[in-house]
Amino acid sequence: MRGYDVVIIGAGIIGLMAARALRAAGRTVALLERSEVGKEASWASAGVLMSRPYAYESISDFALRVEGSEMLLALAPALAAETGIDIEAVRHPALHLAFTADGEANMRALQPQLEGAELGCEFISPADVQERQPEITAPVTLGMVTSCANIENRRLLRALEIGARNAGVEIFTGCDVQTLQVTGGRVTGVHTATQEFNADAVVNATGSWGGTLRGAPERMPVLPERGQMLALWTESVALTHLINLPQYIIIPRKSGRVLLGATSERAGYDRRNTAGGVQGMLHAAIQAIPKLADAAIEELWTGFRPANPDGFPLVGRSAIEGYYYAVGHYKLGIQQAPITAEVISDLITSGGTARSVAHWDPTRFGTAET
Ligand SMILES: Cc1cc2nc3c(=O)[nH]c(=O)nc-3n(C[C@H](O)[C@H](O)[C@H](O)COP(=O)(O)OP(=O)(O)OC[C@H]3O[C@@H](n4cnc5c(N)ncnc54)[C@H](O)[C@@H]3O)c2cc1C
Repeated sequence: MRGYDVVIIGAGIIGLMAARALRAAGRTVALLERSEVGKEASWASAGVLMSRPYAYESISDFALRVEGSEMLLALAPALAAETGIDIEAVRHPALHLAFTADGEANMRALQPQLEGAELGCEFISPADVQERQPEITAPVTLGMVTSCANIENRRLLRALEIGARNAGVEIFTGCDVQTLQVTGGRVTGVHTATQEFNADAVVNATGSWGGTLRGAPERMPVLPERGQMLALWTESVALTHLINLPQYIIIPRKSGRVLLGATSERAGYDRRNTAGGVQGMLHAAIQAIPKLADAAIEELWTGFRPANPDGFPLVGRSAIEGYYYAVGHYKLGIQQAPITAEVISDLITSGGTARSVAHWDPTRFGTAET
């Protein structure tokens, strides 16, 4: 039996960044991962930072994401110094394209959040779209330019893992946590089928598996939403912008790879890429940029976004003393990871947080019985 100040369950970006923050605050930390470190949603992600606002987000929600994105970009040099890994952070403008009057209205509706978060936006004519990115030949009716950034999330995960190990976080892989250990209303650790870990605090960072642990009263309506992605390689298209189509995104990576994503499907934990999913993404991308038809397909993959009913993550204290949630980050978990880690670390080390994240309260969906 091992004892720690904090046990974190799940080594995706949320668990890794929470471990980093808690270790920096002087806590002993064990990070328990049932498969390999960083091989689920965080690995499958597109790594887009400061992506456009969603209709359900307030100005302050979007501003928080922009701040989280900047925190990740600022971390890049520190991680390179600590681990020798370049996370390939790159800033580039995003070009959002509308093809219909409804599409234009949806795009214009984002202006308040973009300006409120001081990211700004510029609406441009179809001719200006062509001038900025000549490869786009589709019949665009309006373009919008915003600031954007991208990181190579797989490198980020590797760097966070090495950084955490170097800092003294103990990482256990192949460690499938099944039950919380609770004594007198207070968490005292966790159990796997064969092991027990004692801790003063336990953080559930299991992504789309957030509702599967036994022993906690909260209803965790977190479900997997499959996202299919693919990577292309081409020398005949030089993208200087991230291209936001109505349904899909085309992302130029610093390495020269072009990513295309992503589908949004309720298919349980089915990891397959499907013919229809891949066809839909390729069709939309080639319609916008016909030259992409010559690109080589380098890789196909899928991942499970931790989706929940209102789109906001479930981060904070549970009803059990010492037990915390940091799950359900849906489409935005890379950008929200730094703030999530800060909130969890603050709650555990000082009992409160200065961040305005009351709407992330993990008890808001009631108890499992209700
Ligand atoms: C295709 C796709 C594209 C995306 N693009 C973006 C993007 O561009 N920008 C952005 O900000 N976000 C994006 N997202 C969302 C983002 O990737 C997720 O919100 C984020 O990765 C969630 O991180 P996590 O650490 O909570 O989950 P995960 O990365 O899934 O990690 C959870 C970990 O918990 C482990 N685990 C589960 N149960 C247990 C258990 N019982 N015991 C031990 N370990 C357990 C799992 O094995 C896993 O490693 C995308 C997601 C997908 C799928």
